[in-house]
Amino acid sequence: MNVVELIGRKKAGGELSAAELQAFIAGYVGGEIPDYQASAFLMAVCWRGLTPAETHALTEAMIHSGETVDLAERLGRRVVDKHSTGGVGDKITIAVGPVVAACGVPFGKMSGRGLGHTGGTLDKLESIPGFRVELTTDELVEQTREIGIAVAGQSANLVPADKKLYALRDVTATVDEVSLIAASIMSKKIAAGASALVLDVKVGEGAFMRTVDDARELALVMRELGIRAGMDVVCVLSDMDQPLGRAVGNAVEVREAVETIAGGGPPDFRELVVDACGQLLALSDLGVDEAEGRRRAEAAMTDGSALAKYEEWIRAQGGDPNLAALPVAPVVATVDAPQAGFVHELRAREVALAALELGAGRHQAGDPVDHAVGVVCLKKRGDTVEAGEALAEIHARDDAAVDAARASLLAAYELGDAEPEPRPLVLDVIR
Ligand code: URA
Repeated sequence: MNVVELIGRKKAGGELSAAELQAFIAGYVGGEIPDYQASAFLMAVCWRGLTPAETHALTEAMIHSGETVDLAERLGRRVVDKHSTGGVGDKITIAVGPVVAACGVPFGKMSGRGLGHTGGTLDKLESIPGFRVELTTDELVEQTREIGIAVAGQSANLVPADKKLYALRDVTATVDEVSLIAASIMSKKIAAGASALVLDVKVGEGAFMRTVDDARELALVMRELGIRAGMDVVCVLSDMDQPLGRAVGNAVEVREAVETIAGGGPPDFRELVVDACGQLLALSDLGVDEAEGRRRAEAAMTDGSALAKYEEWIRAQGGDPNLAALPVAPVVATVDAPQAGFVHELRAREVALAALELGAGRHQAGDPVDHAVGVVCLKKRGDTVEAGEALAEIHARDDAAVDAARASLLAAYELGDAEPEPRPLVLDVIR
């Protein structure tokens, strides 16, 4: 294979064969193709896109870059999974996992780290003292069998192509391309052997897909890849113009997820958690419909069983489930409203960038993450605020970091006199 010719052909808008994509991925994972050529390839894909046949071939090549595991077969149960395309304040897995497991459905999942401006479940879970995200595939299967839930980092042997490409895309501005996102997500889901999948496709200013049309296109590409692999797939398009819930960071998000499964939490986050649980239980082997799934999820969140399952899960992976054990930032300051009015916009991307600057995310692959810092948006779109009332809280290392974040957060909030039109959280469901 002539790698330069292959990159040049994609740059010119040509089509690559399945054998070429297979050889390219094998060469990259094997170390014969260096990062600079893979980066050029990714950028060519961002400009030219991939055909459905190329997207399927890329996904297959990524799946076969490593081991696969048939989780459903090993557990002897139908296994449900969920995946988000990446958002701000998106701590859904941390809440949905224990709720679904408390309802008797196995939830064994591999999650990712932050990508671009979006946060990653593994980084959030690592803010829990002692929590171990590196589980072997056997450990993941055994823990899921024993207590019904395990969430781990992608094991080195499972889709190693995505592990390398994910980190490279993150630092080469090549994240937000439909085929690359679809192949990244679906290669992992197919390799991990889930029977059914709920895809939370984020739409808006804080998502990789800015418009409903782009998000729908991504959803359809992922759904098609799943169906070809024999999976049941439901795609939920949800709003990501403003952060989900209030907390954006790591420990602050874990705290909010736990408050939610214990029966509290912000209404928008709670709604999406119940929604995802309803879909997952309806796709499981419990034989219930979505309405009954929602009812059972809500019951688990009020009768203490979801919280008990969360604690069991965190302990099983070596962590301390006590919220008081989570790290706290040395400085907590408020951002106050310059005038009275309604919150018209709360721009998710600006909030994410403020959290990133505080240290909650990475500029470069391998950068350490400060688990204690972040932002809590006390006011969200549609809320009223008095002049001088707190809009948000900044959790920071020092006062200089507070000052920088304050300016970004003031720019993230847009206040107005009239009440804004309400916008739905769930924009579409594609089955
Ligand atoms: N999540 C993934 O796993 N991959 C992407 O490309 C985007 C979100």
